[in-house]
Amino acid sequence: MNQQDLAFDRDHLWHPYTSLTDPLPVYPVVSAAGVRLKLANGTELIDGMSSWWTAIHGYNVPELNHAATDQLAKMSHVMFGGITHEPAIRLGQLLVELLPAGLDRIFLADSGSVSIEVALKVAIQYQQATGNTRRTKFMTFRGGYHGDTSAAMSVCDPEGGMHALFKGFLPEHHFAPRPQAGYFEVPSLQEIEQLRQFFQDKAPASAAFILEPVVQGAGGMRMYAPAYLQLVRELCDEHGLLLIADEIATGFGRTGQLFAVEHAPITPDIICVGKAITGGYLTLAAMACTRHVAEIVCHGAAGVLMHGPTFMGNPLACAVAVASLTLLRQSPWQARVKAIENTLQTELSKLTDHPAVTEVRVLGAIGVIETNRPINVAATQAFLIGRGCWIRPFRNLLYIMPPYVIGHEELLTLTDGMAAVLEEPTNFI
Ligand SMILES: *Cc1c(COP(=O)(O)O)cnc(C)c1O
Repeated sequence: MNQQDLAFDRDHLWHPYTSLTDPLPVYPVVSAAGVRLKLANGTELIDGMSSWWTAIHGYNVPELNHAATDQLAKMSHVMFGGITHEPAIRLGQLLVELLPAGLDRIFLADSGSVSIEVALKVAIQYQQATGNTRRTKFMTFRGGYHGDTSAAMSVCDPEGGMHALFKGFLPEHHFAPRPQAGYFEVPSLQEIEQLRQFFQDKAPASAAFILEPVVQGAGGMRMYAPAYLQLVRELCDEHGLLLIADEIATGFGRTGQLFAVEHAPITPDIICVGKAITGGYLTLAAMACTRHVAEIVCHGAAGVLMHGPTFMGNPLACAVAVASLTLLRQSPWQARVKAIENTLQTELSKLTDHPAVTEVRVLGAIGVIETNRPINVAATQAFLIGRGCWIRPFRNLLYIMPPYVIGHEELLTLTDGMAAVLEEPTNFI
């Protein structure tokens, strides 16, 4: 990659949520191994992001490499319509074993957002099939994030998701205030009453409640009390709504439980998983529902679930997912996540009273510093790269969710980097 290549990138390639006329800088990465990304200039960076929640085992993992090359030699892809294959079956079997009991009817989708689209359609088809044709809305909390496709976007936080920009295009759904009580706190009686009233008002026209259990990710990196999950589960049952748990970010151990619904614990009617499912190698996600939901949907007017993307059940992605979940299961992931949590608690809680800090939040292998001023992303990123860290902040959130295999010293490099960011005024707007 030379300067011309980087100029081409700047002029022609859109990066996530960026301008093509005034893009933020990008850094060329040439390889990655363990918990390190290697830049074209030879600099090595400790990865604090797990490539957006995905690379839980780190990079260039022998077991995953083998699974990919073995599968490549057999077939990379074959259509899933009228055909099946071992990687899909093995992955299905693993998911049935690992997912909360009862969630055993599986749709293999090609990305997290698509799995959310499928979950929403399942909920609508379910209500249609039971004669509730007026139940076409969704209920959710503010502060959520469920993906970037249109239906997924329509249940994201209305401000974070810029719903105003897409007014007239996005369907309008029902938003409850975001949960106020943090993970270790108790929801107030007033808040509980508010949520009950919200169901009274909105449930009759709604098909399902969708939420990210315990951790709201890209919508604001907030952790909330598991008691809300029990409350929403009860209210959904009371009002005939399905409960959709979006575990695309939280699934596969990130919060300290294999799935975040286990903090309550509750069982949703539908769950979506993605991101870490292939250990960050390939795009793949899954929607799973209960047998009851699947049967009702399939007894409806259509007789089928109305979805089937081209790359559904991609064998290469499924084979790597099988290897990734097998590796996860064989690894001491609970101890690793706990060790990360302890270090994050110790190191980040020192910053709680820092004048630039609003709040420090830690759960599992997730550490968040909320600052009282917006972060200058370009400046902060350059600053952190100078300290050997790969951390990408957004808005006023400086946060990490490192690979589970990160070592103690490596993690300290990241937390020291985060602390140092706060001392440099040019890192803020
Ligand atoms: C990332 C994410 C999605 C969307 O997944 P994509 O693979 O990016 O389409 C949906 N929900 C949550 C909670 C996520 O973190």
